Amino acid sequence: MEPQAPIGSPRAPPGRGLGNAQGTAQSLEVRLKSRSHRQALASVVIPECRDCGVCCFSLRPEHVRVWEIDRERMGEQLVERYTQLVDGIRYMRMTRGCCDALVVDPVHRRFACGIYEVRPDTCRGLQRGSSGCRDEIVQKHDRPVALLGKLGR
Ligand code: SF4
Ligand code: SF4
Repeated sequence: MEPQAPIGSPRAPPGRGLGNAQGTAQSLEVRLKSRSHRQALASVVIPECRDCGVCCFSLRPEHVRVWEIDRERMGEQLVERYTQLVDGIRYMRMTRGCCDALVVDPVHRRFACGIYEVRPDTCRGLQRGSSGCRDEIVQKHDRPVALLGKLGR
């Protein structure tokens, strides 16, 4: 049976909540208009992962590599459902501008990894609040909000 979407985050354990995806994007937009990228990175207020989901978004099909150890953890059913080969290399499939395994709750404006317990090592390696997390938020903060907009929220 496929794992349930966790009461948690796309990539990291829940932390202190600081508002929803819309609020996060808007407050960061203000900072980005007035500061350099480096200053913006330092000033990012890290939202709760469930209110963010940013690191699961990308337009690149090579965003999340799926290694052999990931395949073994996921099992063939989930591999078949959520991954694809690009030039012979396996990645998480991205068809909405985000990972196919990302569960989007448009009513509550929340995001969760649908395969949290068996997610790939790449996802496990990104810690909430790390420099990589901050960079993801600065680069792509508007994408979850855009997807919610497409879903009518
Ligand atoms: S970018 Fe950071 S805060 Fe947002 S979901 Fe990913 S780890 Fe969590
Ligand atoms: S598997 Fe997909 S939805 Fe889950 S944490 Fe990784 S990128 Fe996000």
